[in-house]
Amino acid sequence: MAKRILVTGGAGFIGSHLCKRLLDDGEEVICLDNLFTGTKKNIECFLDNHNFEFIRHDVTREYLLEVDQIYNLACPASPIHYQFDPVKTINTSVMGAINGLELAKKVKARILQASTSEVYGDPSVHPQPESYWGNVNPIGIRSCYDEGKRVAETLFFDYHRQYGVDIKVVRIFNTYGSNMSLNDGRVVSNFIVQALKNEDLTIYGDGNQTRSFCFVTDLVDGMVRMMNSRDDFTGPVNLGNPGEFTMKELAQKVIELTGSSSKIIYKPLPQDDPKQRQPIIELAKKELDWEPTTNLDEGLKKTIEYFKECLG
Ligand code: NAD
Ligand code: UDP
Repeated sequence: MAKRILVTGGAGFIGSHLCKRLLDDGEEVICLDNLFTGTKKNIECFLDNHNFEFIRHDVTREYLLEVDQIYNLACPASPIHYQFDPVKTINTSVMGAINGLELAKKVKARILQASTSEVYGDPSVHPQPESYWGNVNPIGIRSCYDEGKRVAETLFFDYHRQYGVDIKVVRIFNTYGSNMSLNDGRVVSNFIVQALKNEDLTIYGDGNQTRSFCFVTDLVDGMVRMMNSRDDFTGPVNLGNPGEFTMKELAQKVIELTGSSSKIIYKPLPQDDPKQRQPIIELAKKELDWEPTTNLDEGLKKTIEYFKECLG
């Protein structure tokens, strides 16, 4: 029988891909989103599917829905967006987690938290295993996001220990693909949009910082596997692609794959920008039989096609 599944943040980049995957699997999907960074455009193709419903609502306020599973994704994820209203960002993570967990407790639903590699901060252990506790500045400009996500993890484990709520926690590393907005501000979409417009690609800092980029459909597959994993496996589990690249390498790849005449320019590195990031995914391999299958070149080509369409 089809499950009834709530996706908070379902109109956003990852959320819209998750809604599609769940609908393709034959599930009933309720997408709850306040459209802060998400758009109706990302979900308009589902609106005449009778298994899909959209509710415009803010997760910082309580809500009640009869569901079997909850994926909690509601939270701006790009630094420019989460720093726009930092107090709202931390409120979204914390109250969003509490409201989701209260609902899970009430209706006995399983709930999965979209946590992040940002819980590792600027990591002094490299690559990062789940056992690493992180190196996060509690008072910097990224803290509203990083600490908000860390508190959300704490709340998940306290609700689990104290009330027996059925929880799952995934730590998502940098993910990219279609349905990112043109003004998302994260590095992959910035570079592709700049390259397609033959504008300069803006590297922040010296470009030697690294990230590991996961294609969105791989990530979503890991999230669904985690949601449906054995009852006593809570995570946290890293989900990401272990391929590690410098921002300079990424910029060069994007210029090459778009055939752009753009040049690279350098801008100041934002405060607390992590120097390195690479997931260890042995736990996901073992528990979820999951690993990414799309390499960076393939994923970038698909994402470039998407942005070409957006730019007309
Ligand atoms: P996104 O900004 O595209 O999506 C976030 C969605 O949440 C948007 O649709 C937005 O409108 C919605 N939202 C924000 N605040 C809300 C609120 N108060 N109430 C209801 N809805 C709200 O970002 P994304 O990249 O799709 O990220 C989705 C989730 O995955 C986030 O929780 C993010 O922290 C997490 N994550 C993403 C990445 C990544 O690389 N994309 C990495 C780590 C973690
Ligand atoms: N970055 C960059 N140019 C841009 C946008 C981002 O060089 O136009 C850098 C940013 O400073 C960081 C990396 O790319 O070192 C990844 O940034 P993003 O915002 O995508 O993700 P996060 O820093 O949250 O991992």
